[in-house]
Amino acid sequence: MKRKARKLTSLLLATLCAGSMLLCACDKADQTSDQSGDPGFAPPSADATETSDSAEATTGKKDTNSYEKVTLDGVNEHHYISTDFCYLESEKYVLLIDKDIDLPGDFAVVLDAIIDEIENQLGISAMPGDREYYNVTDNSVYFDGFNPWKDWNVGTKIPIFILCDRQPKGWISCATANDVTIVSYDLFSDEIWNSIPEFRDNPWRRDEYLDYTEIIHEVTHAITRRNCNTSKIMTEGIANYMEVAVVNSLADKYPSIAEIKAKKDFYDYDVPEAVNASNAENIFLSDYSDVEHADRGAEYTFGKYLFEYLHEQKGNDFYKDINGKIKADNIDYRYDEYDEAAMQKIAGVIKELYGDDVFTKFGDWCVKNKYLQTANG
Ligand SMILES: [Zn+2]
Repeated sequence: MKRKARKLTSLLLATLCAGSMLLCACDKADQTSDQSGDPGFAPPSADATETSDSAEATTGKKDTNSYEKVTLDGVNEHHYISTDFCYLESEKYVLLIDKDIDLPGDFAVVLDAIIDEIENQLGISAMPGDREYYNVTDNSVYFDGFNPWKDWNVGTKIPIFILCDRQPKGWISCATANDVTIVSYDLFSDEIWNSIPEFRDNPWRRDEYLDYTEIIHEVTHAITRRNCNTSKIMTEGIANYMEVAVVNSLADKYPSIAEIKAKKDFYDYDVPEAVNASNAENIFLSDYSDVEHADRGAEYTFGKYLFEYLHEQKGNDFYKDINGKIKADNIDYRYDEYDEAAMQKIAGVIKELYGDDVFTKFGDWCVKNKYLQTANG
């Protein structure tokens, strides 16, 4: 039963993730700043301190300048447990760390490898030069109105918030082109976990290992969305595909990833109907954004196998070419709003690159390999 509950919870979380992203995408797309495009990074300097001081006056919270810069020693068994807001800077991201977070010593090394691997496999950059970069997102909603990272600008690097849901409010991980927010029970300190009955009394909520697949999923969202906006089935599909692809390719080199490969149940959500040559294209074109009527969850699994098929057909450039063509054709799809005309254009891009019969062949491939054959309808 626990396993079942876990699976159901995972589905719920993924569904909520999509809903949360919807809100994030809307809210954050409107946030602009005149401090953009600077590849360098430093915590706010004296000018910004004044702003922080005024925030301190009204909130009683401390000056953001004084946050500790964390470095990790690379040893998995060693842990850094945060007692205040702090940050960790790497080549392609900055971790903006909440209090009560427990990071294993190899966290940054593994995350570096994950981001490199996503870039390599997808053939796109985590920090594309052709987009605008803004100040770190105002995530004060998570901190009772206080913004710990006010005036921070990390240039082209990905700001990755690591949050502790200490109240708890049921926060979940999400991502936009501007940032990644990770709420992982595996990263809460034991002390905070054991102080919250909802967590302490439900140990099945936590893995025996740090499940990086959630981070792989969200970081993939940030990287792909920094490069082009595309539909929900494409966005969730590539993120789910990368969870498995990155774990498989890094397991030999990183023991923390090998553990996931050995222990994780990579669960596939059911699809509304078994996929075959005649229905595959219609399933691709379906509306997955309508909360009331859509087959929530199906887009994750269907999209994952579609990308697995495309990778099998084309090898290394399977995603890069699609990304490039969507950009070249100026197809701009809002993740959270179903746009049938744009969806047809995206299907057209895939047909142009893989042949007019790509969806019928994909359907045949699913039947042959017994993928997407468990229907929930
Ligand atoms: Zn997602």
